Amino acid sequence: MSVPHRTRRRVLGQLASLPLVALSRGSRAAARSGGTREIDISGYDRVLLPREHGQLTRLTTPLHGRYPSRDHCMQMAAFFSARRGLLVIAKDARGGVADWDIRPGGTLRIHFHGEVPEVETQQIDPTLEAAAAAYRQWALRQSWVTTRRRTAPRLNFFSVASQSSQAGERVHLQRVLANTQPPIGVWFTQWRRYGFDEKYPDYSPREPQEFAHTLALCALRDAVALPYVNAQLWDQTLSDFHEVGVRLALRTETHDTLPYNAELSNLRYACPYSRDWQDRLAQVRASLRDAEGRRSQGVYLDMLAAAPPAICWAEDHGHRPGDPYAWAQGQRALLQRIDGAVMVEGNAEIYLDRVDYVLMHLWTDQPDAVPLWKLVYGDLVQSVGWRLPPAVTDEQLRNTVRRARDFGVGAGATPWMTSEPESALFARGTAQSALVEARTLR
Ligand SMILES: [Zn+2]
Repeated sequence: MSVPHRTRRRVLGQLASLPLVALSRGSRAAARSGGTREIDISGYDRVLLPREHGQLTRLTTPLHGRYPSRDHCMQMAAFFSARRGLLVIAKDARGGVADWDIRPGGTLRIHFHGEVPEVETQQIDPTLEAAAAAYRQWALRQSWVTTRRRTAPRLNFFSVASQSSQAGERVHLQRVLANTQPPIGVWFTQWRRYGFDEKYPDYSPREPQEFAHTLALCALRDAVALPYVNAQLWDQTLSDFHEVGVRLALRTETHDTLPYNAELSNLRYACPYSRDWQDRLAQVRASLRDAEGRRSQGVYLDMLAAAPPAICWAEDHGHRPGDPYAWAQGQRALLQRIDGAVMVEGNAEIYLDRVDYVLMHLWTDQPDAVPLWKLVYGDLVQSVGWRLPPAVTDEQLRNTVRRARDFGVGAGATPWMTSEPESALFARGTAQSALVEARTLR
């Protein structure tokens, strides 16, 4: 099985409202800050939403998104009829947690869990471009843009290193290098001694010396190594971490720990604000060393800018119980401690000043996907990744590369997210055909 089957993006989408459900119980609601704004959208039949790259769809069913996350990555929504458009911007410079609920033929209801910001509505032309241009004016003045100082290179290809053997990995890497131009990225997804979604945060390599040799080869050949680390989850069955895990676990309002989902209930959310959690991930990052003892050039942090934030009610994490800003503050503090190139899953805008590559692949095969993100943020960060159909043909992959370019996606739309190992795409020549296409488009 290759990468997409071993990652959890599909499930994440289904779970988007779980923290909200968990928090709607209990008696503390009255003590919370926050407030709700409602906007009449009854005159509109289409909606433009900041779901990853963007989504333009007919208003037929209720929609929900929690900001800041991959599925609601910017603080806006736009509503269109044939003749007019309505843009809504929540101007929250702190980027607090907010739930956006849309009732077709009724209202947009935004519930802010923290301070209620100014919510601006603007009449605009009913187009993607008009909505993007107006939001961009506000977005580019925010701290996640104005304070951004990153130096990681723009990459021409992201290779997926998903084999269980490092010797096999190095053979594949040589083949990729022979067909691409440096610098490239190498995303190591199967390097740990445990399988995918097991025993986080144990990040010991399966083949320690061999893995160190692969990392050294990356350093030698201008390939930025990005080993997979899950930034959010710990495994209750990891016995030597259980006691620590219980201390740093995110707590719901009823003080339960929060399972990732029913299927993978061994995995529990950590509270990103917890110093113990940040320390652990900083140690993991520092442990990624090549055969010469040098740190890997980068790291991949799964879920960090994708997962909808949950609110933590623990009393001993250093934040106020129920603090709606703790999640994002914790993630930002963690990113501050991670050196080198950083790739994250998802594209919640409030982290843009601290990341280099954002993996945006989940909704790319949907017909209602539109390039809203590119029109707002341009190439401020390098967006990467695209979903491929099973057994993708040469022509399908070339078309994918062209469509991805229209969405501002770099690196030849890699990593190509598919059920087939990347090495198979090279073995049958499909990868090379797409790379020629990507070079032509550049
Ligand atoms: Zn907490």
